Amino acid sequence: MSTHAAEAARRRTFAIISHPDAGKTTLTEKLLLFGGAIRQAGSVKSRKSAKHATSDWMTLEKERGISVTSSVMQFPYDGRIVNLLDTPGHADFSEDTYRVLTAVDSALMVIDCAKGVEERTIKLMEVCRLRDTPIMTFINKLDREGKYPIELLDEVERVLDIPCAPITWPIGMGSRLKGVVHLLTGEVHLFEPGKNLTRQDSTIYASLDDPALAQRVGAEVLNEVSEELVLVQGASHPFDRELYLAGLQTPVFFGSAVNNFGVQLLLDFFVEHAPPPKPRDASARVISPDESAFSGFVFKIQANMDPLHRDRVAFLRVCSGSYEPGGKAYHVRTGKEMRIGDALTFMASERGLAEYAYPGDVIGIHNHGTIAIADTFTAGEPLQFTGIPSFAPELFRRVRLRDPLRLKQLHKGLTQLSEEGATQFFRPLLANDLILGAIGTLQFEVVAYRLKDEYGVEATFEPAQVVTARWVKAEDGGALEEFREKAAIHLAIDATGALVYLAPTRVNLQMVQERWPKLRFEATREHA
Ligand code: GDP
Repeated sequence: MSTHAAEAARRRTFAIISHPDAGKTTLTEKLLLFGGAIRQAGSVKSRKSAKHATSDWMTLEKERGISVTSSVMQFPYDGRIVNLLDTPGHADFSEDTYRVLTAVDSALMVIDCAKGVEERTIKLMEVCRLRDTPIMTFINKLDREGKYPIELLDEVERVLDIPCAPITWPIGMGSRLKGVVHLLTGEVHLFEPGKNLTRQDSTIYASLDDPALAQRVGAEVLNEVSEELVLVQGASHPFDRELYLAGLQTPVFFGSAVNNFGVQLLLDFFVEHAPPPKPRDASARVISPDESAFSGFVFKIQANMDPLHRDRVAFLRVCSGSYEPGGKAYHVRTGKEMRIGDALTFMASERGLAEYAYPGDVIGIHNHGTIAIADTFTAGEPLQFTGIPSFAPELFRRVRLRDPLRLKQLHKGLTQLSEEGATQFFRPLLANDLILGAIGTLQFEVVAYRLKDEYGVEATFEPAQVVTARWVKAEDGGALEEFREKAAIHLAIDATGALVYLAPTRVNLQMVQERWPKLRFEATREHA
């Protein structure tokens, strides 16, 4: 096997999906801790520790208690290289989350044991299903009273329609939580709050029948769990790696992220069984991670990631070959060779220059506006990776600037923020104002906040008489020119320079489409 194929085989690239508050941030921190990526356990939400998880960089996030941005965290564990791609938790950022999910090979689903399967989890699961993404499940907060474990498995199977294969099983719950039993090894790991930082710290018994264990936790609770396990084994499924890899079964773990309990058992199992990079469809053909020629696609763009580095970073998932410092790559959309020699990697909370990157890894390419979401980079072959979703904005606002002298900064800010893909901005042909389109209302608040924080521009948003946007295309240049003149009042230019019809009402749009049969009115900007 070539070096890069061997490197690809030890990559584990995944994202955590959950409903807000289930414990994603806490679990992320514990995984980083086990991976040696951070040294200090401390709430990610308390910002006093210098080494907080990178997912939390924005002040806004602290204020609102939501994850607004995504980031990438890489750490070595047990001979593997783990890439954890963070996803924003709030529903208004689902578009961003969907794109992150196109860049991972598997997912980890976190469920609150008291709340069970929640609404966001259901939506994210649907997205994972589109690509048959393998999913592991962590049922969290076992230190609190929750639903019965059997009931939780039943809920996952019923609501999410995926068979469960429990790998660990809790002994008690809430104040009676004693530990978990590993159903494949038989080992019992005791729950000792404040003492489970590493495997060595936690007391382990060889099996449920160990007399020393009965002495420690009492025979009664062990009898209870043994009886329960008979039921579980009858009602659930044994772990089947093929089914898991096909997205047809989810291995389930129980634990308490905040107490570091059950997390390492999950991580050990994860690095062993979760899939390495898979071949990917690039329209003309399928690209295998074993191919030596470099290829990858951009799934996310972020402006001003780090206040110390005011730049725009394009996040590229490597699909084949390897990235080396000083290298160049072919930017398929523009047909140009591009220097990507100073790409970034994301070792936990620090950005550094990428040494090498292999399939499954993510690199950050410095970008001055030429790279767009879904762009493919190759060693020269004109390929296009497929399946990166694009959504039309559903809400529109007119941007009002407090200080007219800041117009240039406003343009710059809106252009750069719209490159991230969460919002789109339009300049009407006939008016001097600007229209911003978004999927969710929270995005307007985020844009207003970031304009002020990152570009020093104070802007407010007012209702705009626009219900939907259509990108106008035509083979017939004459018809397009005529339309441009006649419909100018409703036409605008988007951040990429494309012509867009901003429809004031649905009826108006329908009439315009009927009147201009030679034109195409497209509901999404094509990501290609
Ligand atoms: P996120 O919104 O999914 O990222 O959730 P967080 O990780 O921020 O957790 C939400 C809340 O649940 C926080 O107050 C955590 O301290 C708490 N939490 C996380 N894990 C546990 C756990 O295992 N037990 C208990 N009791 N609370 C937890």
